[in-house]
Amino acid sequence: MADNIVLELKAVERHYVQGQRKLTILNGAEFVLTRGEMVALVAPSGTGKSTLLHTAGLLERPDAGDVILSGRACGRLSDDERTAIRRNDIGFVYQFHHLLPEFSAVENVMMPQLVKGLPVKEAHSRAMQLLDYMQIAKRADHRPAELSGGEQQRVAIARAVANAPLVLLADEPTGNLDPATASYVFDALSALVRQSGLAALIATHNHELAQRMDRRVTLAEGHVVPL
Ligand code: ADP
Ligand code: MG
Repeated sequence: MADNIVLELKAVERHYVQGQRKLTILNGAEFVLTRGEMVALVAPSGTGKSTLLHTAGLLERPDAGDVILSGRACGRLSDDERTAIRRNDIGFVYQFHHLLPEFSAVENVMMPQLVKGLPVKEAHSRAMQLLDYMQIAKRADHRPAELSGGEQQRVAIARAVANAPLVLLADEPTGNLDPATASYVFDALSALVRQSGLAALIATHNHELAQRMDRRVTLAEGHVVPL
């Protein structure tokens, strides 16, 4: 069991200071994600879903506690070390695709691989494979502006898994899509997660999609609790 733990939050605290007030968003949050698991994070706006995902994804540092990725404590690592772990082990998908507008779909999926140091040919072949898997290979040479919202998100998902991360973190990845497109994009995302044995934590407001995941958690008074 312990070997299967991909991501662990241990007593994580996050506070923001707003003027004279200290806002406590995470107040000793505990969470464990195991290999192959898909977990929905369902909570109202402003409760700290993005804060939790950014902290788990090493984009923000915990004020106290630690984030353990594959057994490695990451909370106090240097920025360079955290960047390297993010590049190799964490895939992140945002509500808005954040694709690079001046590059084609396939180039966007190649980019993280090139940054990691893979040869162009290999990066291209893996990018095409992933786009094919997301059923969008025929749009590989299009720029993001030439793609629909659902297509953009499918490219963003392919990009997030391009370096075969351990964990996929998604912050309302279908929040900007109509219900039918959201359902289709979610199917593609979950097929990819299932096929690769990735672990995924996905924030969503969509209860129907949340029901399709293995379990659901929410945030209550700065803690992660089962839903
Ligand atoms: P959610 O994703 O669930 O909507 P967030 O994690 O974005 O929630 O935000 C949780 C709370 O923290 C909100 O009240 C938000 O205003 C506040 N917050 C988020 N980021 C900052 C920041 N950089 N500075 C101050 N307050 C912040
Ligand atoms: Mg948010």
